[in-house]
Amino acid sequence: MHEKCGVVGISLEDRSAARPLYYSLYALQHRGQESAGIVTHDGFQQHSHVEMGLVGDAFEQGDLQALNGSQGIGHVRYPTAGSLDCSCAQPFSVSFKSGSLGLSHNGNLVNAGEIRDQLAGLGHAFTSDGDTEVIAHDLARNLLEEDLVRAVKHTMARIHGSYSLTIMHDDTVMGVRDPQGNRPLCIGELEDGYVLASESAAIDTLDGELIRDVKPGELVVLHADGTGYDTYQLVENENTAHCFFEHVYFARPDSVIDDELVYEVRRELGRQLWEENGIDSDVVMPVPDSGRAFASGYAEAANEDSDADGVEFAEGLMKNRYVGRTFIMPTQDERERAVRLKLNPIKSTVEGKTVTLIDDSIVRGTTSNQLVQLLRDAGAEEVHVRIGAPPIIAPCYMGIDMASREELIAADRSVEDIRDEIGADSLSYLSIDAIAESLSKSRADLCLGCVTGEYPYDIQGEEKDRDVERPSIDAPTTADD
Ligand code: SF4
Repeated sequence: MHEKCGVVGISLEDRSAARPLYYSLYALQHRGQESAGIVTHDGFQQHSHVEMGLVGDAFEQGDLQALNGSQGIGHVRYPTAGSLDCSCAQPFSVSFKSGSLGLSHNGNLVNAGEIRDQLAGLGHAFTSDGDTEVIAHDLARNLLEEDLVRAVKHTMARIHGSYSLTIMHDDTVMGVRDPQGNRPLCIGELEDGYVLASESAAIDTLDGELIRDVKPGELVVLHADGTGYDTYQLVENENTAHCFFEHVYFARPDSVIDDELVYEVRRELGRQLWEENGIDSDVVMPVPDSGRAFASGYAEAANEDSDADGVEFAEGLMKNRYVGRTFIMPTQDERERAVRLKLNPIKSTVEGKTVTLIDDSIVRGTTSNQLVQLLRDAGAEEVHVRIGAPPIIAPCYMGIDMASREELIAADRSVEDIRDEIGADSLSYLSIDAIAESLSKSRADLCLGCVTGEYPYDIQGEEKDRDVERPSIDAPTTADD
């Protein structure tokens, strides 16, 4: 599973924004590794540098120096919608009659095709097949006739899906979060300006202070002189649809998202995992790095439980940090070999012992199967697997690169079948209620699409978990004020 993107926007008093944007993208690198880009504005014109590759490879010293201006937006991308080439890399930038526009998008629209067809019919020429360009064209069209806030509001009334955006119109930087707040976006204060970012870790990296999350349906406009910001609640919604997987897996553990420190949420999920499905064993160990906080919470709860025997927390699997991610290996056979390249058991921590292995999720099951076998080969007597999320039974349409339904091991198998397939002595998942409790949210305020098969957006051919409809897009600028 891969997060699609990370976004950032910065407005400073009179310092160049290029370097702080560059550092922020470094802090958000885990959210996208395919391309990186920055667009700045110097008060007269836009400057853009967008390249394929990691942040460290995409920019050279001279590139940053050429990005003039104290305002800018940035983006890291892992593509799921649109093609895997530079035409879809972001920020997307365009010049039109009313000025210049730059856009960074995290999320995925479910009605981008409809809007694209309509705008194409009205004469808009598209250069990529990504949904970000659709938003940019719609917004540019609205900006021909309306002020910034009304233009954004009218675009929001037409697009349906998941989006956290940083936008730059000339030298004004803005942030918008979709009305259900599916993907994160927060605002922070720097000594000489303000920053919008997908995660608070980017604000920490700049020595800034997290102010708060951008609210679902809210537009935050940073002053072009870096001295403040204005906010506009453009859409009110009864319920939110936060992606629970941000807390479980995607976000950095040191980020605060929707008022919760991700690391603490993961530890709490581990504690709940023990409460719901704890099993006595000699050793508890995480799948590195994703299972670490879960395993520490699980072991802590186990050791506090007076009815349990007590357990040792150990790092029994060592990670080779220099191996690329398994997803670049195209065939199943290569994926299986990659697990062995990535992780190696420490024999002395598992030999002759009963082991509980903790991870955040099982997608295809390939990795779990390999890991159980690795531990058995290293001499483990029993291997119990505990997962800090419910079974993933359906794909994600909101910007997470997940396997298709056919590839998801839990899509059509019982937990017992999966246990058998991965070769574990026992297997348990965390319940949806435990997820909601650990995130201090009601189920109605979470997106649980991939674990229930019911989505908080109107997706063709899929069930909905709430009363939500795609907007009518008949007329480009007819939304109510
Ligand atoms: S379907 Fe799953 S991964 Fe996708 S947004 Fe919803 S909770 Fe997150």
